[in-house]
Amino acid sequence: MTDLKSMTPEELAAFFQELGQPAFRAGQVFRWLNRGASSFDEMSNLPKQLREKLKETCLLARPVAARKQVSALDGTIKYLWRLGDGSCIETVLMKYQHGNTACISCQVGCRMGCAFCASTLGGKVRDLTPGEMLDQVIFTQLDSGEAISNLVLMGIGEPLDNFDTVLKFLHLVNHPEGLNIGMRHISLSTCGLTEKIDKLARCELQLTLSVSLHAPDDETRSRLMPVNRGIGVEKLMETCRRYFQTTGRRISYEYAMIDGVNDSDRQADQLAALLKGTPGHVNLIPLNNVAESPLKPSRRTAAFRRRLEEHGVTVTVRRRLGGDIDASCGQLRRKAMADPGPPNEERGR
Ligand code: SAH
Repeated sequence: MTDLKSMTPEELAAFFQELGQPAFRAGQVFRWLNRGASSFDEMSNLPKQLREKLKETCLLARPVAARKQVSALDGTIKYLWRLGDGSCIETVLMKYQHGNTACISCQVGCRMGCAFCASTLGGKVRDLTPGEMLDQVIFTQLDSGEAISNLVLMGIGEPLDNFDTVLKFLHLVNHPEGLNIGMRHISLSTCGLTEKIDKLARCELQLTLSVSLHAPDDETRSRLMPVNRGIGVEKLMETCRRYFQTTGRRISYEYAMIDGVNDSDRQADQLAALLKGTPGHVNLIPLNNVAESPLKPSRRTAAFRRRLEEHGVTVTVRRRLGGDIDASCGQLRRKAMADPGPPNEERGR
């Protein structure tokens, strides 16, 4: 079956040409798909015969909201989507003053093995397709009735471990005939796959790259993030500097504050030294508790921040959203795997 939703308008044009259809069919179908059409019969401007043909040969799957949680604290909405093959992924919609941001997933599970992360506990099941990534934006928007202006690729999975798909997704979601979300409104977060960061740099996209650093020294980072064992902090930082030189885009370094592991003054000093001469800023993230992990949130985020600032580092502290609904990605999927439970629980409403 042909996966139309993963195709660019140019690919759709070639597809319809082969069916002997005029080129404008591509634009028509692309627009229907981006509006969340869930059957070919809805596509009323296509000839009936063509619709029948598409029904026989093309996929038109839509994700089902297996669970939906709404935070009573700040209106954050978390979706657990069930895909065509029964796999589940998460999308979180966060409401900020500067617009709504969707946090989307790129894989079913993850193979990176970070010690603090719920998404990686069962390993990677499979990559998502570009269409499945796009569907998260389309259907989160449709279901919530909220327009999405910003995206963060910080849900389940490692974006640079599903490189071609993510690149194609970016192209699709950025397309003026589609959702038209500007590259400058998109952040991509990586655990630090250096070869892929170099590859991304060559694409010269205007998106924001976030690098999950979480520790300034190899011993701590390799303990928290197995991916560091083959790369090392020094090589990662060299790659980040190269990324900035090629793209002119500052990098955001994610740093989850973990009690007694990466939150000492000495580590703040090491982190500041590491970032010297590397344009970018540090985003301190309060660690979200993961039931299966012994790691606990740090109690000295403010002191760590001050220490970094004394060294002249630009620091932000991530606001916690959806604290009452376990809004960090991976946790709802874990729960659903353990207990299928009732659908659509809406807390506090
Ligand atoms: N694989 C990518 C993107 C997904 S995770 C990456 O590693 O960057 C998005 C961010 O959430 C990353 O910075 C990740 O390290 C962080 N994260 C994962 N589990 C967390 C937890 N329990 N508490 C706080 N941050 C967490």
